[in-house]
Amino acid sequence: MKVLILGVNGFIGSHLSTRILAETDWNVYGMDLTDHKLKGVIGHERFHFIEGDIAINKEWIEYHIKKCDVVLPLVAIATPKTYIENPLGVFELDFEENLRIIKQCVRYNKRIIFPSTSEVYGMCTSESFDEYSSHLVLGPIPKQRWIYSCSKQLLDRVIWAYGQNGVLDFTLIRPFNWIGPRLDSLETAKEGSSRVVTQFIAALVFQQPIVLVDGGTQSRSFTYIDDGIDALMKILKNEGSMATGQIFNLGNPKNNCTIKDLAAKLLDMYKHHPLHRNDTKYSEIIIQDADTFYGKGYQDIYTRVPSIENARERLRWEPKISLEDALRMTLDSFLIEKSSDHASPCPED
Ligand code: UDP
Repeated sequence: MKVLILGVNGFIGSHLSTRILAETDWNVYGMDLTDHKLKGVIGHERFHFIEGDIAINKEWIEYHIKKCDVVLPLVAIATPKTYIENPLGVFELDFEENLRIIKQCVRYNKRIIFPSTSEVYGMCTSESFDEYSSHLVLGPIPKQRWIYSCSKQLLDRVIWAYGQNGVLDFTLIRPFNWIGPRLDSLETAKEGSSRVVTQFIAALVFQQPIVLVDGGTQSRSFTYIDDGIDALMKILKNEGSMATGQIFNLGNPKNNCTIKDLAAKLLDMYKHHPLHRNDTKYSEIIIQDADTFYGKGYQDIYTRVPSIENARERLRWEPKISLEDALRMTLDSFLIEKSSDHASPCPED
Protein backbone atom coordinates (compact mmCIF):
# COMPACT_ATOMS: atom_id res chain seq x y z
CA MET A 1 0.00 0.00 0.00
CA LYS A 2 1.11 3.56 -0.66
CA VAL A 3 0.31 6.06 2.10
CA LEU A 4 0.50 9.81 1.56
CA ILE A 5 1.09 11.81 4.75
CA LEU A 6 0.98 15.59 4.47
CA GLY A 7 2.52 17.10 7.58
CA VAL A 8 4.68 14.01 8.01
CA ASN A 9 7.15 15.81 10.31
CA GLY A 10 4.44 16.57 12.84
CA PHE A 11 3.76 14.82 16.12
CA ILE A 12 1.32 12.27 14.67
CA GLY A 13 2.94 12.02 11.21
CA SER A 14 6.38 11.20 12.56
CA HIS A 15 5.14 8.52 14.97
CA LEU A 16 2.85 7.00 12.36
CA SER A 17 5.63 6.83 9.75
CA THR A 18 7.93 5.05 12.20
CA ARG A 19 5.26 2.48 12.98
CA ILE A 20 4.26 1.90 9.36
CA LEU A 21 7.85 1.30 8.30
CA ALA A 22 8.51 -1.02 11.24
CA GLU A 23 5.39 -3.15 10.96
CA THR A 24 4.32 -3.24 7.32
CA ASP A 25 5.72 -3.38 3.81
CA TRP A 26 3.93 -0.16 2.83
CA ASN A 27 5.54 2.89 1.26
CA VAL A 28 5.16 6.29 2.91
CA TYR A 29 5.22 9.45 0.81
CA GLY A 30 5.52 12.48 3.03
CA MET A 31 5.74 16.24 2.73
CA ASP A 32 6.54 18.81 5.38
CA LEU A 33 8.30 22.13 5.86
CA THR A 34 11.20 20.45 7.70
CA ASP A 35 12.32 16.98 8.73
CA HIS A 36 13.75 17.38 12.25
CA LYS A 37 11.33 14.89 13.83
CA LEU A 38 12.05 12.25 11.19
CA LYS A 39 15.56 11.24 12.18
CA GLY A 40 14.58 7.60 12.62
CA VAL A 41 13.00 7.21 9.17
CA ILE A 42 14.81 9.55 6.77
CA GLY A 43 16.90 7.34 4.51
CA HIS A 44 14.60 4.31 4.87
CA GLU A 45 14.06 2.78 1.44
CA ARG A 46 10.27 2.90 1.77
CA PHE A 47 10.15 6.46 3.11
CA HIS A 48 9.94 9.12 0.43
CA PHE A 49 10.23 12.63 1.82
CA ILE A 50 10.02 15.97 0.13
CA GLU A 51 10.48 19.29 1.83
CA GLY A 52 7.53 21.46 0.85
CA ASP A 53 4.53 23.55 1.76
CA ILE A 54 0.99 22.35 1.04
CA ALA A 55 0.01 25.87 0.03
CA ILE A 56 2.79 26.01 -2.58
CA ASN A 57 3.75 22.55 -3.80
CA LYS A 58 0.31 21.79 -5.17
CA GLU A 59 1.39 19.80 -8.21
CA TRP A 60 3.46 17.37 -6.13
CA ILE A 61 0.46 16.84 -3.89
CA GLU A 62 -2.01 16.27 -6.70
CA TYR A 63 0.37 13.84 -8.39
CA HIS A 64 0.82 11.89 -5.15
CA ILE A 65 -2.87 11.81 -4.34
CA LYS A 66 -3.30 10.13 -7.74
CA LYS A 67 -0.40 7.77 -7.05
CA CYS A 68 -1.24 6.71 -3.46
CA ASP A 69 -3.99 4.52 -2.01
CA VAL A 70 -4.76 6.48 1.13
CA VAL A 71 -4.25 10.11 2.13
CA LEU A 72 -3.71 11.55 5.62
CA PRO A 73 -3.77 15.35 5.47
CA LEU A 74 -2.27 16.10 8.88
CA VAL A 75 -1.22 19.69 8.20
CA ALA A 76 -2.98 22.06 10.59
CA ILE A 77 -2.37 24.69 13.22
CA ALA A 78 -3.59 23.02 16.42
CA THR A 79 -2.53 25.23 19.31
CA PRO A 80 -5.20 27.35 21.05
CA LYS A 81 -3.01 30.42 21.40
CA THR A 82 -2.67 30.61 17.60
CA TYR A 83 -6.45 30.37 17.12
CA ILE A 84 -6.68 33.73 18.86
CA GLU A 85 -3.52 35.38 17.53
CA ASN A 86 -3.90 34.29 13.91
CA PRO A 87 -7.46 33.10 13.26
CA LEU A 88 -7.29 33.76 9.51
CA GLY A 89 -4.07 31.77 9.28
CA VAL A 90 -5.92 28.89 10.95
CA PHE A 91 -8.81 29.23 8.49
CA GLU A 92 -6.55 29.40 5.44
CA LEU A 93 -4.36 26.46 6.39
CA ASP A 94 -6.68 24.21 8.35
CA PHE A 95 -9.77 24.83 6.22
CA GLU A 96 -8.93 26.13 2.76
CA GLU A 97 -5.82 24.09 2.04
CA ASN A 98 -7.37 20.92 3.39
CA LEU A 99 -10.63 21.40 1.49
CA ARG A 100 -8.63 21.34 -1.74
CA ILE A 101 -7.04 18.05 -0.72
CA ILE A 102 -10.39 16.54 0.26
CA LYS A 103 -11.81 17.49 -3.16
CA GLN A 104 -8.84 15.88 -4.90
CA CYS A 105 -9.47 12.67 -2.96
CA VAL A 106 -13.02 12.76 -4.32
CA ARG A 107 -11.79 13.49 -7.86
CA TYR A 108 -9.24 10.66 -7.87
CA ASN A 109 -11.35 8.25 -5.84
CA LYS A 110 -8.85 7.94 -2.96
CA ARG A 111 -9.44 6.95 0.62
CA ILE A 112 -8.95 9.75 3.15
CA ILE A 113 -8.28 9.46 6.88
CA PHE A 114 -9.04 12.94 8.09
CA PRO A 115 -7.97 14.34 11.46
CA SER A 116 -11.02 15.93 12.94
CA THR A 117 -10.57 16.98 16.56
CA SER A 118 -12.02 16.56 20.04
CA GLU A 119 -12.29 20.36 19.89
CA VAL A 120 -15.41 20.02 17.66
CA TYR A 121 -17.44 19.09 20.75
CA GLY A 122 -16.56 22.49 22.19
CA MET A 123 -18.44 23.26 25.38
CA CYS A 124 -20.72 20.23 25.09
CA THR A 125 -22.12 19.50 28.53
CA SER A 126 -22.40 15.70 28.16
CA GLU A 127 -20.44 13.63 30.64
CA SER A 128 -18.71 11.91 27.75
CA PHE A 129 -18.78 12.87 24.09
CA ASP A 130 -20.34 10.55 21.54
CA GLU A 131 -19.53 10.82 17.83
CA TYR A 132 -23.10 10.25 16.69
CA SER A 133 -25.27 11.97 19.30
CA SER A 134 -23.36 14.69 21.18
CA HIS A 135 -24.02 18.33 20.39
CA LEU A 136 -21.18 20.44 19.05
CA VAL A 137 -21.31 23.62 21.13
CA LEU A 138 -19.30 26.72 20.23
CA GLY A 139 -19.15 30.23 21.69
CA PRO A 140 -19.89 33.61 20.08
CA ILE A 141 -17.97 35.00 17.09
CA PRO A 142 -15.69 37.39 19.04
CA LYS A 143 -14.38 34.35 20.89
CA GLN A 144 -11.92 33.55 18.11
CA ARG A 145 -10.78 30.34 19.76
CA TRP A 146 -13.62 28.58 18.01
CA ILE A 147 -12.37 29.18 14.47
CA TYR A 148 -10.35 25.96 14.63
CA SER A 149 -13.25 23.89 15.91
CA CYS A 150 -15.61 25.48 13.39
CA SER A 151 -13.20 24.94 10.45
CA LYS A 152 -12.71 21.30 11.36
CA GLN A 153 -16.42 20.78 11.93
CA LEU A 154 -17.31 22.12 8.50
CA LEU A 155 -14.70 19.87 6.88
CA ASP A 156 -16.16 16.92 8.82
CA ARG A 157 -19.56 17.82 7.42
CA VAL A 158 -18.23 18.20 3.86
CA ILE A 159 -16.49 14.81 4.08
CA TRP A 160 -19.59 13.21 5.54
CA ALA A 161 -21.72 14.64 2.72
CA TYR A 162 -19.35 13.32 0.04
CA GLY A 163 -19.50 9.97 1.81
CA GLN A 164 -23.29 10.00 1.77
CA ASN A 165 -23.17 10.70 -1.96
CA GLY A 166 -21.03 7.60 -2.36
CA VAL A 167 -18.07 9.48 -3.81
CA LEU A 168 -15.61 9.43 -0.89
CA ASP A 169 -14.19 6.57 1.15
CA PHE A 170 -13.36 8.21 4.48
CA THR A 171 -12.68 7.84 8.19
CA LEU A 172 -12.80 10.78 10.60
CA ILE A 173 -10.59 10.53 13.66
CA ARG A 174 -10.86 12.71 16.75
CA PRO A 175 -7.72 12.68 18.90
CA PHE A 176 -8.26 13.65 22.54
CA ASN A 177 -5.16 15.44 23.88
CA TRP A 178 -2.56 13.03 22.55
CA ILE A 179 0.79 13.42 24.26
CA GLY A 180 4.24 11.91 23.92
CA PRO A 181 7.73 12.52 22.61
CA ARG A 182 7.96 15.26 19.94
CA LEU A 183 4.58 16.79 20.90
CA ASP A 184 5.70 20.41 20.46
CA SER A 185 9.07 22.04 20.81
CA LEU A 186 10.24 23.53 24.09
CA GLU A 187 11.31 26.62 22.15
CA THR A 188 7.74 27.41 21.01
CA ALA A 189 6.60 26.74 24.54
CA LYS A 190 8.95 29.51 25.69
CA GLU A 191 6.68 31.95 23.86
CA GLY A 192 3.62 30.44 25.51
CA SER A 193 2.16 28.93 22.37
CA SER A 194 2.28 25.20 22.97
CA ARG A 195 -0.20 22.70 24.28
CA VAL A 196 -0.46 22.35 28.00
CA VAL A 197 1.86 19.38 28.62
CA THR A 198 4.73 20.90 26.64
CA GLN A 199 3.98 24.27 28.20
CA PHE A 200 4.36 22.84 31.70
CA ILE A 201 7.50 20.84 30.85
CA ALA A 202 9.08 23.97 29.31
CA ALA A 203 8.20 25.93 32.45
CA LEU A 204 10.00 23.29 34.55
CA VAL A 205 13.04 23.18 32.28
CA PHE A 206 13.43 26.95 32.04
CA GLN A 207 12.50 27.48 35.72
CA GLN A 208 9.56 29.69 34.87
CA PRO A 209 6.21 29.60 36.68
CA ILE A 210 3.71 26.91 35.71
CA VAL A 211 0.54 28.82 34.90
CA LEU A 212 -2.86 27.39 35.73
CA VAL A 213 -5.33 29.23 33.54
CA ASP A 214 -8.35 30.24 35.66
CA GLY A 215 -7.19 27.96 38.48
CA GLY A 216 -6.82 24.74 36.48
CA THR A 217 -10.09 23.07 37.45
CA GLN A 218 -10.79 22.27 33.77
CA SER A 219 -9.89 18.74 32.71
CA ARG A 220 -8.64 16.80 29.69
CA SER A 221 -8.32 13.09 28.88
CA PHE A 222 -4.65 12.69 28.01
CA THR A 223 -3.85 9.90 25.60
CA TYR A 224 -0.44 8.43 24.90
CA ILE A 225 0.68 8.65 21.28
CA ASP A 226 1.39 4.89 20.98
CA ASP A 227 -2.23 4.12 21.85
CA GLY A 228 -3.39 6.61 19.24
CA ILE A 229 -1.07 5.10 16.63
CA ASP A 230 -2.43 1.60 17.44
CA ALA A 231 -5.87 2.87 16.46
CA LEU A 232 -4.57 4.58 13.34
CA MET A 233 -2.86 1.38 12.19
CA LYS A 234 -6.12 -0.53 12.54
CA ILE A 235 -7.89 2.20 10.57
CA LEU A 236 -5.23 2.09 7.86
CA LYS A 237 -5.45 -1.71 7.61
CA ASN A 238 -9.24 -1.40 7.57
CA GLU A 239 -9.94 -5.13 7.77
CA GLY A 240 -13.48 -5.90 6.61
CA SER A 241 -13.94 -2.13 5.95
CA MET A 242 -14.34 -1.74 9.73
CA ALA A 243 -13.38 1.96 9.58
CA THR A 244 -15.06 3.00 6.35
CA GLY A 245 -17.50 5.89 6.72
CA GLN A 246 -16.94 6.01 10.48
CA ILE A 247 -16.10 8.67 13.05
CA PHE A 248 -13.86 7.60 15.92
CA ASN A 249 -13.09 9.38 19.16
CA LEU A 250 -9.54 8.33 20.00
CA GLY A 251 -8.84 9.16 23.60
CA ASN A 252 -8.35 7.60 27.00
CA PRO A 253 -11.29 8.32 29.32
CA LYS A 254 -9.40 6.71 32.22
CA ASN A 255 -6.73 9.41 31.93
CA ASN A 256 -9.11 12.29 32.59
CA CYS A 257 -7.32 14.75 34.84
CA THR A 258 -7.66 18.38 35.90
CA ILE A 259 -5.01 20.81 34.71
CA LYS A 260 -4.21 21.51 38.34
CA ASP A 261 -3.49 17.82 39.00
CA LEU A 262 -1.50 17.62 35.80
CA ALA A 263 0.76 20.44 37.01
CA ALA A 264 1.24 18.76 40.39
CA LYS A 265 2.06 15.39 38.80
CA LEU A 266 4.60 16.86 36.38
CA LEU A 267 6.26 18.96 39.08
CA ASP A 268 6.55 15.91 41.30
CA MET A 269 7.98 13.74 38.50
CA TYR A 270 10.45 16.46 37.61
CA LYS A 271 11.63 16.81 41.21
CA HIS A 272 12.28 13.05 41.35
CA HIS A 273 13.83 12.78 37.90
CA PRO A 274 17.47 11.55 37.95
CA LEU A 275 18.56 14.57 35.88
CA HIS A 276 16.91 17.10 38.21
CA ARG A 277 16.50 15.67 41.71
CA ASN A 278 19.50 17.67 42.92
CA ASP A 279 18.35 21.00 41.48
CA THR A 280 18.24 23.77 44.05
CA LYS A 281 15.21 25.56 42.64
CA TYR A 282 11.95 24.44 41.02
CA SER A 283 9.12 26.25 39.22
CA GLU A 284 6.28 27.56 41.30
CA ILE A 285 2.66 27.01 40.30
CA ILE A 286 0.69 30.21 39.80
CA ILE A 287 -2.84 31.11 38.68
CA GLN A 288 -3.62 33.53 35.87
CA ASP A 289 -6.96 34.51 34.36
CA ALA A 290 -7.63 33.41 30.78
CA ASP A 291 -7.81 36.96 29.38
CA THR A 292 -4.30 37.67 30.64
CA PHE A 293 -2.86 34.36 29.46
CA TYR A 294 -4.56 34.04 26.08
CA GLY A 295 -6.32 37.36 25.38
CA LYS A 296 -9.99 38.23 25.07
CA GLY A 297 -10.68 35.83 22.19
CA TYR A 298 -10.29 32.80 24.46
CA GLN A 299 -13.01 30.66 25.94
CA ASP A 300 -12.21 27.44 27.74
CA ILE A 301 -13.58 23.93 27.55
CA TYR A 302 -14.19 22.61 31.06
CA THR A 303 -14.59 18.90 30.45
CA ARG A 304 -13.57 16.71 27.56
CA VAL A 305 -14.08 13.00 28.07
CA PRO A 306 -14.45 10.72 25.05
CA SER A 307 -16.88 7.88 24.67
CA ILE A 308 -14.77 5.30 22.84
CA GLU A 309 -17.47 2.68 22.33
CA ASN A 310 -17.32 2.97 18.55
CA ALA A 311 -13.56 2.40 18.47
CA ARG A 312 -13.87 -0.44 20.99
CA GLU A 313 -16.57 -2.19 19.00
CA ARG A 314 -15.41 -1.67 15.44
CA LEU A 315 -11.65 -1.46 15.79
CA ARG A 316 -11.30 -3.68 18.86
CA TRP A 317 -9.15 -0.86 20.24
CA GLU A 318 -8.50 -0.06 23.86
CA PRO A 319 -6.00 2.55 25.05
CA LYS A 320 -3.56 0.94 27.47
CA ILE A 321 -1.10 3.54 28.74
CA SER A 322 -1.90 5.11 32.11
CA LEU A 323 -1.62 8.85 32.67
CA GLU A 324 1.40 8.39 34.94
CA ASP A 325 3.27 6.32 32.35
CA ALA A 326 2.27 8.68 29.54
CA LEU A 327 3.52 11.72 31.45
CA ARG A 328 6.70 10.00 32.57
CA MET A 329 7.61 8.93 29.04
CA THR A 330 6.77 12.35 27.63
CA LEU A 331 8.75 14.20 30.30
CA ASP A 332 11.66 11.81 29.91
CA SER A 333 11.87 12.29 26.17
CA PHE A 334 11.94 16.08 26.50
CA LEU A 335 14.57 16.01 29.24
CA ILE A 336 16.80 13.56 27.41
CA GLU A 337 16.52 15.64 24.23
CA LYS A 338 17.34 18.79 26.20
CA SER A 339 20.36 17.25 27.93
CA SER A 340 21.72 15.89 24.62
CA ASP A 341 21.34 19.41 23.15
CA HIS A 342 23.62 20.64 25.90
CA ALA A 343 26.02 17.75 25.46
CA SER A 344 26.54 18.30 21.73
CA PRO A 345 29.24 20.84 20.92
CA CYS A 346 28.34 24.22 19.44
CA PRO A 347 29.27 24.63 15.76
CA GLU A 348 31.87 27.26 16.76
CA ASP A 349 33.59 24.92 19.25
N1 UDP B 1 -3.61 25.61 30.09
C1 UDP B 1 -3.08 26.07 31.29
N2 UDP B 1 -1.78 26.54 31.32
C2 UDP B 1 -0.98 26.56 30.21
C3 UDP B 1 -1.52 26.09 28.98
C4 UDP B 1 -2.84 25.61 28.97
O1 UDP B 1 -3.74 26.06 32.34
O2 UDP B 1 0.18 26.97 30.31
C5 UDP B 1 -4.97 25.06 30.06
C6 UDP B 1 -5.89 25.62 28.99
O3 UDP B 1 -6.58 26.77 29.43
C7 UDP B 1 -6.83 24.45 28.73
C8 UDP B 1 -5.98 23.21 29.01
O4 UDP B 1 -4.85 23.69 29.75
O5 UDP B 1 -7.90 24.47 29.63
C9 UDP B 1 -5.52 22.47 27.79
O6 UDP B 1 -4.91 23.38 26.93
P1 UDP B 1 -4.19 22.94 25.58
O7 UDP B 1 -3.45 24.13 25.07
O8 UDP B 1 -3.37 21.72 25.77
O9 UDP B 1 -5.32 22.64 24.49
P2 UDP B 1 -6.86 22.19 24.49
O10 UDP B 1 -6.94 20.90 25.21
O11 UDP B 1 -7.65 23.28 25.16
O12 UDP B 1 -7.17 22.06 23.05
